[in-house]
Amino acid sequence: MLAHRLIERKRDKGRIEPGEWRALALAYAKGHVPDYQMAALLMACFLNGLDRGETAALTEAMLLSGDRLDLAHIGRPRVDKHSTGGVGDKVSLVLAPMVSALGVAVPMMSGRSLGHTGGTLDKLESIPGFRTDLSLIEAQAQVEEIGCVMIGQTPEIAPADKKMYALRDATSTVESISLIAASIMSKKLAEDLSGLVIDMKRGSGALVPEIERVLELAQVMIKLGADHGCPAVALVTAMDRPLGRACGNALEVEEAIAALKGEGPPDLMSVTYALGAEMLVLAGVAEDTEIARRELEKSISTGHAAEQFQKIIDAQGGNPAVVEDPALLPQAAECEIFTAPRRGFVARIEPRAIGRGIIEMGGGRTRVEDIADPGVGFVITARPGDWVEPGEPMATIFARDRAGIGSGRLALKAAVVIADEAEPPLPLISHRVSAAGVEDYPSP
Ligand code: URA
Repeated sequence: MLAHRLIERKRDKGRIEPGEWRALALAYAKGHVPDYQMAALLMACFLNGLDRGETAALTEAMLLSGDRLDLAHIGRPRVDKHSTGGVGDKVSLVLAPMVSALGVAVPMMSGRSLGHTGGTLDKLESIPGFRTDLSLIEAQAQVEEIGCVMIGQTPEIAPADKKMYALRDATSTVESISLIAASIMSKKLAEDLSGLVIDMKRGSGALVPEIERVLELAQVMIKLGADHGCPAVALVTAMDRPLGRACGNALEVEEAIAALKGEGPPDLMSVTYALGAEMLVLAGVAEDTEIARRELEKSISTGHAAEQFQKIIDAQGGNPAVVEDPALLPQAAECEIFTAPRRGFVARIEPRAIGRGIIEMGGGRTRVEDIADPGVGFVITARPGDWVEPGEPMATIFARDRAGIGSGRLALKAAVVIADEAEPPLPLISHRVSAAGVEDYPSP
């Protein structure tokens, strides 16, 4: 009866009280509310919105539907990074080892690829043997031992969100600021963090493309963090083109390993250092972001960050030798160079078309239960603003067979726009959002 009453009220633009959200989330997590009722309620929330109080109450209700990590006793600050997702976004693979090598605990909980965006769990699982499905107890023990764990949402963490997110994905109710903020923060707050850094993507390949909505989402998430004693900072970064060069699970792990050895592409390194610097300042181990950045660079140049990645891989059952020899990662059977069809400026490289191309080639998912082929994808060396001559190499396609190469070629043809005039891309990092408000991010 509770669900029926709440659907009716939300349909008529009414308000749901905190106790009602709690009862509903618990009942849904236990299987006492059917999916069809929850789907109707989510659609009513999507269409009529939640106010800030309801968003906070829903977050709390989903958080309380499960357990939390208990890390307060480990005696070091605990900071995580969340990204709203994109194409070529392998920042977590570089950031978690780099920051945890500097004495900050990073209990990192990530998601899978869905739609055109990639997922950190799929990238990690392309490392032979790597387990992302640790239990809460195993995850906790690993953070205590080596200062970092990289896992998915365990069955114990925010189970109401887990079910609701899957339902939203199937009912086109994902893109709501309140529902996104509550979903992400219910999981992050379960990590027992002393700080959170959020990479808010903007642009055509982002979950929320428009800057006004991106800034609103960042502010809602930061307020939810503050309400629970978890200070948060967000950087708004560009997703109007892929980040770095590699797009596809194993290819991205290879690029992340190169980055940990000091050979990462400049855009990937700028975003990673900027987010890492905010993490170190939030953790209280660096006074300001300039000092923090020098520490991060040292973590790379001394080899400590790469060694820490080996420790994480080893602890989670993977083959740590991939760091020394990335050829041990799954390899595609076929590859082909994609060349410029005409002369001109690279005006755009559309991330959505690239992400969809990877799915077409078998490297992504259209449903949560799909199995992704880790070896396929693209390495795109051309960047927006480059001048190209006809026949000049712009990218390499990696596929499992010739049909996959054909799909990859079509995806690149759709994604790459060459024009007589260059189109200015979005600034790589445009804004910094904190509890104090929104600031422009200084250009490098
Ligand atoms: N990621 C989440 O975990 N939840 C959302 O609602 C959107 C992205």
